Amino acid sequence: MDHPYVILPEEQAPDGIEHCEICELSRQRSRVIWGEGNPKAPLMMILDNPGAREDPAGNPFLCGTRETLQFGMREAGIDVHDIYVTYLLKCRPKRAYNKPEARTACLPHLQMQLLQKQPLVLFGFGNVVAESIFPDKENASVKELRGSWYEYQDTPISFTYHPLAVRRRPNLLRFFVEDLKALKAKWEEVRQVGI
Ligand code: SF4
Repeated sequence: MDHPYVILPEEQAPDGIEHCEICELSRQRSRVIWGEGNPKAPLMMILDNPGAREDPAGNPFLCGTRETLQFGMREAGIDVHDIYVTYLLKCRPKRAYNKPEARTACLPHLQMQLLQKQPLVLFGFGNVVAESIFPDKENASVKELRGSWYEYQDTPISFTYHPLAVRRRPNLLRFFVEDLKALKAKWEEVRQVGI
């Protein structure tokens, strides 16, 4: 039986950034993970950091986060080819690190990515992403922000729960799918305006 999920192609980090040593995660990563999926996609999804991408034998591996994300997208009618997935932190943490410092250090990479790719709509997963995108907003949590649209670098953005939170708490699944449906509707709205 075919596996119902796909492993999206990884996009190479731009020249220079693949050797980034701005924060301490450079000493624990295996490589910089710039993003995956369609590099020209209209929808950019932002997760907190990359998870395991290969199993112990080095074979490409679909982690629970990506599996749940694809499940939610399918329920919401979003095609996997219409998305690009990236991260607040471009390096996978393997042990304890200074989280505020790493998030501040890596944010300019995400901002540059946005300028280069110019997606039509942004979508963040989890409180860490929400807090880092809106550090000055009071109560920048998914619970407070989901269901509404905001602007980040002139691009509409909204948020939902992290796929791992949805796996741990299945009662969140219906909100997760609802939010992804709202993302699809927003994309259609923005596309209409652009025609
Ligand atoms: S997490 Fe970001 S800032 Fe830190 S080393 Fe990796 S790419 Fe550089």
